[in-house]
Amino acid sequence: MKRFDSSSDQPELSQTGRKVVSKDDKEVSTSSRAWTDPATHQVGLLNRLVSVEDYEPFIGPEVVERILSKARALQGFKVVNFNSTFYGGGVAELLSAMTLLMNSLGIKAEWRVIQGRPDFFNITKKMHNALQGADINLSEIKTTIFEEVNFENAVRNRIDHDMVVVHDPQPLPLIDHFPKKCPWLWRCHIELSNPDCPTWKYLTGFIEKYDAVILSHGDYQQNLPIPQLIFMPAINPFSIKNKELTTAEMDDRLDQYKIPVDLPLIVQVSRFDRWKDPAGVVEAFKLAQKEIDATLVLLGNFATDDPEGARVYEHLASIREERILVLPNGDDTALVNTLQRRAAVVLQKSLREGFGLTVTEAMWKGTPVIGGNVGGIRSQIQDGVNGFLVSSVKDAADRIVQLLKDARLREQMGRKARQAVTERFLLTRYLEQYLGLFGAFETIFRLPDSWHGKPEL
Ligand code: UDP
Repeated sequence: MKRFDSSSDQPELSQTGRKVVSKDDKEVSTSSRAWTDPATHQVGLLNRLVSVEDYEPFIGPEVVERILSKARALQGFKVVNFNSTFYGGGVAELLSAMTLLMNSLGIKAEWRVIQGRPDFFNITKKMHNALQGADINLSEIKTTIFEEVNFENAVRNRIDHDMVVVHDPQPLPLIDHFPKKCPWLWRCHIELSNPDCPTWKYLTGFIEKYDAVILSHGDYQQNLPIPQLIFMPAINPFSIKNKELTTAEMDDRLDQYKIPVDLPLIVQVSRFDRWKDPAGVVEAFKLAQKEIDATLVLLGNFATDDPEGARVYEHLASIREERILVLPNGDDTALVNTLQRRAAVVLQKSLREGFGLTVTEAMWKGTPVIGGNVGGIRSQIQDGVNGFLVSSVKDAADRIVQLLKDARLREQMGRKARQAVTERFLLTRYLEQYLGLFGAFETIFRLPDSWHGKPEL
């Protein structure tokens, strides 16, 4: 079932040991401990950070050297990231990989998660929905809770950094509570094609205090007085979720969850969220079943900042069938990897999607993806070339049937999908964009107006 010979992709691991300095200025060793698994003869990474040099087989020595030289100029640069969940969802996935990669380069990158009560996360999830176009009632009590919880988090945090990056709307008001001694960036991962006006207007009051906004797609740009940059997310090819797995490891995962392999697998991996349209996936699968035999697996998880997940999961669990599996075990990242590799077709039939790392992950594994023709999925899938874009249940069903009947097409699209990720969506590209930005802000020393024209003292 595997479509690629992994041997040529296996990176030669760097043997360089590097020291980086931790928050309390203790030295943390990031030195190499590459090891070979005696059972599989695969080289693994044990207790060691992935380094930029590890990417050389994919990006070439010149790009590695260019990144290292940019990083040299930023030794000891202190950046702190704020978001609202440690796991579940693309933001946590990106922060986890990116902060480690930056530290491997001598940049002191921190990641802090704001805390909040369930009512706070109910409100921020509504805001998230509103930014993606839903109508919400943003009452005064909601904005009060939103701002209060941010104030409480500000009290618990000290900032002494060269840059602050705030991710998504949940921690946006933090900026009100710190003296601004460095640039603050708002990194919005959400699809912003058509945000709900009152919510956007309210949040703009905070956003305008930032020094720049980073978005995942050019279509999300808004009318703002500050610069808006476009950084598309990317994946870490060495994580458990994305690295090569042995046949035995994959079989073990499938056995563990009793996933049948007698028929081709159609897979969607997504947080249980209505914007991912799992109900539409089930409908499309049922239509396709009239022409092909397959098993549908909907694998999902829950993020701590998303209180709607349980309801979406319960609904899906109630419509399970013998050939429609709904698994809430998506925190098992080796299972995610296995399903993305073993699937004949991966679906990501989202109705809104800021970027869609699940698409990138499946494409990296050489699996053709049928994605909703929305948001960041459109930056990744070139329709009919390295996957398919669909706008309806019927389209999705037709493409499932087409791909299942045509092994050659699956193989060709999968190969091009892998190539697209290698060229455009590996973490080193995203890292380089950040490094450029860290070094780009000008320091302006300016005397306040009250000093203008003062007589000599
Ligand atoms: N994910 C996971 N298990 C799941 C569902 C999702 O590990 O059951 C991961 C997925 O592999 C990806 C991230 O969560 O790395 C989801 O990112 P994406 O950009 O696709 O969507 P988001 O959840 O951020 O809207």
